[in-house]
Amino acid sequence: AGSGKFFVGGNWKCNGTKDSISKLVSDLNGATLENDVDVVVAPPFVYIDQVKSSLTDRVEISGQNAWVGKGGAFTGEISAEQLIDVGCKWVILGHSERRHIIGEDNEFIGKKAAYALSQNLKVIACIGEKLEEREAGKTFEVCFQQLKAFADSISSWTDVVIAYEPVWAIGTGKVATPLQAQEVHVAVRDWLKKNISPEVASATRIIYGGSVNGSNCAELAKQEDIDGFLVGGASLKGPEFATIVNSVT
Ligand code: PEP
Repeated sequence: AGSGKFFVGGNWKCNGTKDSISKLVSDLNGATLENDVDVVVAPPFVYIDQVKSSLTDRVEISGQNAWVGKGGAFTGEISAEQLIDVGCKWVILGHSERRHIIGEDNEFIGKKAAYALSQNLKVIACIGEKLEEREAGKTFEVCFQQLKAFADSISSWTDVVIAYEPVWAIGTGKVATPLQAQEVHVAVRDWLKKNISPEVASATRIIYGGSVNGSNCAELAKQEDIDGFLVGGASLKGPEFATIVNSVT
């Protein structure tokens, strides 16, 4: 971990019922979470209100997506204003499942980030290469293109956390090695330094996501440029998520 405050997000994706979420919240409320870590969970939209009214304020809440602009006649969408209204502080944007299953492109995601930030919603900005891109030696090129799309739309990085999530590691049980992750995190920081500013490069947290669990988090957290995690599957288990939150110490 680097000098920024460690950040651990739990992305619950499209999982859960009122009952299972009530159990997860009570496990989180009962868990010991290190003070010096930002902890955020992203429930499905329909359960945000339930989570907001039952989860300790120690843990902040994120949306898993948001509409690209002001709400209105956009059937099935959720606006940044609505996320703020129900108590979210964060939104995850550019998650690989939205990019590659739903078909969101770089430009659309960049615009979403700009709009969310304009409404004072902080952004977890996801980037990451697919397996064939890694195998073709295009990891940096793909990540930099995705970063550039964010950079082209937003004017401040203060409320942005970058999540490097190699697509081949998400939900596959195939975690990046600490060195593989560290290598990309360094490259991302270097890109920020050259293309934004040295200040933004050192202040922006770059977190890793992709099959992080209670057993592999400690080794990853030792890497100097890994400033936290975005966790999918393992965030659905309260005690294991707490282990990941506490892995920095
Ligand atoms: C994610 O969806 O952001 C993620 C990292 O998932 P998992 O931890 O299940 O690989």
